[in-house]
Amino acid sequence: KLENATAKAELGRASWKLFHTMMARFPEEPTADDSTALRTYIQLFARLYPCGDCAAHFQKLLEKYPPQVSSRNNAAGWACFVHNEVNKRLKKEQFDCNNIGDFYDCGCGDDKGKKKG
Ligand code: FAD
Repeated sequence: KLENATAKAELGRASWKLFHTMMARFPEEPTADDSTALRTYIQLFARLYPCGDCAAHFQKLLEKYPPQVSSRNNAAGWACFVHNEVNKRLKKEQFDCNNIGDFYDCGCGDDKGKKKG
């Protein structure tokens, strides 16, 4: 099948949106189990990302810059940094990571991570 740059970019935008929004909701003071869960999630995300070429590049990036999972700030800052590394490779603009604070809003209000129901 032919490569479809539009679909690939759309997948990228959707994925980054989820990725950064997840970081923005990660606990400020995670338990050891929270941190392990996030690290595992990131590693599996990099392994299973549907664009194989992208996944291979991203896995290399993770080797060079291991996920920071010790707090929300560290996780969000790390995610912003690695996305910027991808931006660099694709010759896109750098995002100002100082502005990441309120940029990613899950829209879920003050549910404090409660499960539904
Ligand atoms: P995107 O890079 O998708 O960004 C979406 C929005 O996020 C931007 O408009 C901006 O508001 C915000 N943003 C930008 N930079 C940051 C940042 N550093 N931190 C936080 N927010 C930011 N495409 C390829 O062609 N080749 C690849 O090898 C490739 N690898 C990828 C690897 C991964 C893990 C992912 C998730 C995507 C990859 N993509 C790849 C897709 C690519 O990164 C873009 O998503 C796609 O090209 C669409 O780009 P965009 O300009 O719309 O903005």
